Parts: sequence; C-alpha cells; structure tokens
Amino acid sequence: MTTGVDIGAIRVDLVPEVKYRLMPKAFLFNDLTQDDAARNADWLGPRHLHPDTLAVGMAFQSVLIRARGQNILVDTCNGNHKPRPHAPWQHDMRSHAFLTALADLGLRPEDIHVVLCTHLHTDHVGWNTRLVNGAWVPTFPNARYVMNRAEFDHFHALLGQGGTRFAHIEDSVLPVVEAGQADFVSDTHAVLTEIGEEVFLSPSPGHSPGHVCVHARAQGAEAVIAGDAIHNAVQFDMPDLVMRADWDPAMAARSRRSLMEHCAGTGALLCAGHIPDWSIGRVSEGGRAFRLAPV
Ligand SMILES: [Zn+2]
Repeated sequence: MTTGVDIGAIRVDLVPEVKYRLMPKAFLFNDLTQDDAARNADWLGPRHLHPDTLAVGMAFQSVLIRARGQNILVDTCNGNHKPRPHAPWQHDMRSHAFLTALADLGLRPEDIHVVLCTHLHTDHVGWNTRLVNGAWVPTFPNARYVMNRAEFDHFHALLGQGGTRFAHIEDSVLPVVEAGQADFVSDTHAVLTEIGEEVFLSPSPGHSPGHVCVHARAQGAEAVIAGDAIHNAVQFDMPDLVMRADWDPAMAARSRRSLMEHCAGTGALLCAGHIPDWSIGRVSEGGRAFRLAPV
C-alpha cells in the first residue's frame, strides 16, 4: 500500500490526521449484518470490518495534489481545539499529526494555494481554520478556499437551527468567508486546466446536497478523490449500503456506484481518505459489485 502516486506529471499524496480509529458499526452502517461481514471477511480482514463486533476501521486524511506548481489540498480533516461536545472522538483535538504530515511533504501552511472542499461536514473542514488568540483564522493564509455554492448555501441556511450540530460552519467555514478567501463555484468547476493536465470537480450528491469528487488527470492517467462518497471498503461489495450521515441515501448510493463504475471502467485510481491502509487503490468488478485493491 502506498501513501502517494504520480498521475502523469501530477503528484497525489495522502495527508493523514488520524491513520486508524476503530468505530462502532452504529457510527456508520446501521444496516450492516453479520452475514455481510462474514461474506467479506476473506478479502477485507478485521482491520476494515471486524467479523464478530462489526466494528469499522476508519482513517481521517486529506489529499494533497501538486500540479504545475500549484499546491492543492483536498479537505482538511477535523482540526484542533474545535468544540464538538456531541462527538467525543473529535472534541478539542490537540494533534500535530496533520501539519507534521504536510511538513513531511515539504510544505508549510503558507505554501497551500488552493483548499478544495468536497463537502462541508465537520471532519472535512477542521483545519480550514486554527485558533489564534481566541479567534478562528484561516490556517492557510495564502489559499483560496474553493467550495460548491450549493453546498455552502445548504449549510448556511441551517445555521442556528441545530444547537451545536453546525458549529463547524461557524468556526471552520465562515471565518474563511469573512477573511475574503472563499470562492463559491459550480459542481463541475475546473481548478486547473492545462494541455494534458487537469484538476476539476464532478458532482456526487447524496452524502450531502452539494458533495463533489475531485479528479486529477494528466497524460492519460487519472485519480479521483472520493471525499465521503465512500467510507469503508465493504461498500465496494455493497454500494447501496447506507452511511448514517447520508443526507439522501438513495442519491448517495447512485453517486457511490457511479464513482466505482467510473474507476472500474477507466482504470482511474481511487483515493478514499476514510479507508485506512487501502486509501489509494484500483477498483474492479467482483463480489456482489466491486472490489478494491490497494496500490
Ligand atoms: Zn467524512
């Protein structure tokens, strides 16, 4: 298994904040059964899905795309100091792992040109900001923060309606808007278009209303960053398996299946930051639907 790949002249690397955490089944998949786990035990192994407890292995990782001198960070994990009393596993984190992983790739926060948000859930926008003298400020002072307009509008309309449920919009999204660093785009926005090299968004709604995937293409090769279209490798066998936080489960399943079909059909690499160990892999038809093989 690898933590980075060359896609033609474009470099794609994982930026881990949490490499592995075991989550109870109920956190992700209410509909998952013992039979499902037994059927997939031979290819998944207990780190992905424990056959007895149905506990699910999860990672929290961003993806760094380096193309034509542009440093493009896709999603920003959970972040530090964020008050998340309803989610003890991410509450008030004090971890240096994320910025250290970025430094290990040779980059300081100032070096990031673009932050791409696949969607605006709490575990994908955390490092958008950091706490400085009691105020949330953009972690990446020179970056444009690119987000789907429809996704922002959805969450912005919910502010104030859900107690602390949308605190992450207030502490991790609005401060970059107020700093003038946000760009609201369509779900097919091209971040980079050069001859033979492209980085662009594609719509993958369902997990959230304006969820997008990110494609990096160069010299005939491609990687797709899945965001939360996929949470666990068992979903390759069961693309219709509902993830608890899916906003529109049927729509999410259609987006998930179409992403897997795209990767299986074209040979594009799939980068799924929530899947531990196998975060970058190839998709093929197999089992009841698909299989994932790490590269
Ligand atoms: Zn997520």
